[in-house]
Amino acid sequence: MDEDIINVVNRLKPLICPKCGGEVSYLKYVVEEIHTYIFERDEYGKFNYTPDDSWPGDWEEYSCPHCYEVLFTNEEDAQRFLRGEE
Ligand SMILES: [Zn+2]
Repeated sequence: MDEDIINVVNRLKPLICPKCGGEVSYLKYVVEEIHTYIFERDEYGKFNYTPDDSWPGDWEEYSCPHCYEVLFTNEEDAQRFLRGEE
């Protein structure tokens, strides 16, 4: 539903990166995340990492896919940009 609206807005008016002026149809989402793994030696003597747990870190960034400049640091602002709002 929300994605349909975003697609319509993007078709009507191109989104422009305020840092480089490039046309943007999506943002790069970069997020810090903590992962824990089980590290063990199997019956063949091989070492393995098995995913165990993960949780959010301290930061997240929404960047321009062209110039990689950070445009937003929260989802609300990133959504507003993709909706074409000022
Ligand atoms: Zn840019």
